[in-house]
Amino acid sequence: MAKNLIKDLTKIVGKENVLADLKDLISYSYDATMRQELPDVIVFPHSTAEVQEIMKLAHREKIPAVPRGAGTNLSGGTIPVKGGIILETSRMNRILEINTANRRAVVEPGVVNLDLQNALAPLGYFYPPDPASQKSSTLGGNIGENAGGPMCLRYGVTSKYVCGMEIVLADGEVINTGDYVEDYPGYDLRGLFIGSEGMLGLATKLILHIIPKPEASRTMLAIFDHLEDSGQAVSDIISAGIIPGAMELLDQKMCQVIEQSVNAGYPTDAAGILLIEVAGLADTLEKQVQEISEICRKNKVRELRIAQSNAERDALWAGRRGAFGSVARICPPYIVCDGTVPRNKLPEALRKVGEIAEKHKVLIVNVAHAGDGNLHPLILFDVNNPEEEKAAKKASEDTLDACIAMGGTISGEHGIGLEKMGAMRSMFDPSDIAAMRKVKHVFDPDDIFNPGKMFPPKTETPQPIKGVATH
Ligand SMILES: Cc1cc2nc3c(=O)[nH]c(=O)nc-3n(C[C@H](O)[C@H](O)[C@H](O)COP(=O)(O)OP(=O)(O)OC[C@H]3O[C@@H](n4cnc5c(N)ncnc54)[C@H](O)[C@@H]3O)c2cc1C
Repeated sequence: MAKNLIKDLTKIVGKENVLADLKDLISYSYDATMRQELPDVIVFPHSTAEVQEIMKLAHREKIPAVPRGAGTNLSGGTIPVKGGIILETSRMNRILEINTANRRAVVEPGVVNLDLQNALAPLGYFYPPDPASQKSSTLGGNIGENAGGPMCLRYGVTSKYVCGMEIVLADGEVINTGDYVEDYPGYDLRGLFIGSEGMLGLATKLILHIIPKPEASRTMLAIFDHLEDSGQAVSDIISAGIIPGAMELLDQKMCQVIEQSVNAGYPTDAAGILLIEVAGLADTLEKQVQEISEICRKNKVRELRIAQSNAERDALWAGRRGAFGSVARICPPYIVCDGTVPRNKLPEALRKVGEIAEKHKVLIVNVAHAGDGNLHPLILFDVNNPEEEKAAKKASEDTLDACIAMGGTISGEHGIGLEKMGAMRSMFDPSDIAAMRKVKHVFDPDDIFNPGKMFPPKTETPQPIKGVATH
């Protein structure tokens, strides 16, 4: 099968756009999680027409097809659990149009998030969803996971900025959903496809909403001796009606790890810090800074710093954006939890994560899109110690259960993929999951697109996935 498949794919895209050597299959067998499965072949289409031909072939032969951007997802979303074709979009990477009058950018799915930001910046515009992975993650992948990022507190996540998409379905048919203009009639299929994790179709063209950059911004660092005080400050700032551009929380261990690889200027002796950015009209910022400072003081802030230059601001943000990478430098295998709680439950959630770490005797370092109540406890373990790995997985499950118990959810932005299929049962009623399965069936009755993801297996015990733990 594999030989004929490669021959047929080569006819569609040319041999320079097909990879099938073992070393290539291994390279595409993992993403940013700890699982690994070999695909049969990797193919790099350049156009919608090529994607269509590939999907017609996959559909005819009933071969799984997994859309892949940069493979940075943290939920196992691009692991080819049933083998088949990886459709990599990195060669569909053209920015087709930027129109500031209409506030639209039209792009191919393989455009890297930061490349779009860099193209927009000289025009005084930006695209708000800014995942910390923006140097490498693609706009198609951001849509696949409905990505968030630090600036999404004020501006909202990816789903707010996708106006329309061209999508190739499992049988090779092309549909268009949404539009260039506002308010399109009919069912909102656009909403259905955003966050669908490559299971309903492959987006080949994206119409995105772009907005003017704020006139000015100020970046503050608030340093706390007690982590829960920092969580309470977040809750109080939002309750006071202030919505900063971003509000990120990092605990002491995270600051220590970051300072080992990025010279961000974070304190290493404080229990936690808040990195807060206010943005808007220049005259309004001083008032916001004063109000936020006052709330931080009420919550026993030890020290408040305000970045005095672009270099200082960039250093503070480089620390936050480098958080996952810094942890990977000292301990490559770790689990990234992505639970979300209502903002006023943040202090309680941070306390609970501390208790879970103690209970399972695992090291957890915390970073959070705090303003959104989106926690990212990173649970470190020794890959050569099965007991430790088991404890880390249990700690991750307990963290998600705790988020659900507090009225939260199992994913703020990283999706379900393979990692959280089991937790779907805790989050949703069987009827909710059955409704989602029906939607999948309508668009992809043969389960061609990214099979084996998101839905918990119908058997009670989740099927074990062969896995090699590396980050
Ligand atoms: C260091 C680091 C920091 C991160 N920080 C953040 C963060 O701040 N916020 C955040 O939300 N995430 C973050 N992530 C997770 C990850 O970067 C995001 O999920 C990102 O959106 C994935 O983009 P990608 O191009 O790598 O997509 P991939 O990982 O390749 O794919 C993700 C999913 O989308 C599907 N997909 C890909 N392309 C298409 C397409 N064209 N059409 C349909 N489906 C498609 C795939 O099948 C898969 O299910 C981080 C990851 C890392 C490693």
